[in-house]
Amino acid sequence: MSNSKRPSWDEYFLKLAMLASERATCPRMHCGCVLVKDRFVLATGYNGSLPGQPHCEDVGCQVVDNHCVRTNHAEINALVQAAVHGVNISGSTVYVTNMPCTTCAKALIAARIKRVVIFSDFHDTLATDFFHKAGVELVKLDIPDREINYHIEKYSSAKKTDKSK
Ligand SMILES: [Zn+2]
Ligand SMILES: [Zn+2]
Repeated sequence: MSNSKRPSWDEYFLKLAMLASERATCPRMHCGCVLVKDRFVLATGYNGSLPGQPHCEDVGCQVVDNHCVRTNHAEINALVQAAVHGVNISGSTVYVTNMPCTTCAKALIAARIKRVVIFSDFHDTLATDFFHKAGVELVKLDIPDREINYHIEKYSSAKKTDKSK
């Protein structure tokens, strides 16, 4: 259903995480992640193959113990993007489409992330416990409106002006 209400900041950044997930390349999981500090986007990530390596959707998944191991997870790729570009992410909030796995949770804690916002259910992993013990706030919100509410025809200044008048 179309919902034109203005999103809260948390909804806005969760929607950005959903948008990032559209770039994911593993058919088993599409996950997106956004690192934010003071309402400023520091880095984004999605689960995808290592640079220059083939994508799961082209060559199939590389499954070990029922998990595809070909891709880096979205959270790791966001942390790596920040590292590559020399961005200080300590104290930031991470918005993720899915509850982080235990490995990603540990990386986020080590990177001094202070808050984790998701809309998926909590998995039965150690991540919740690790976050709790590290004093990281874990927040589960309702899934945001899955539509991008942009309708060019609705805004008068986006319309071509009729120069004949
Ligand atoms: Zn895969
Ligand atoms: Zn993970």
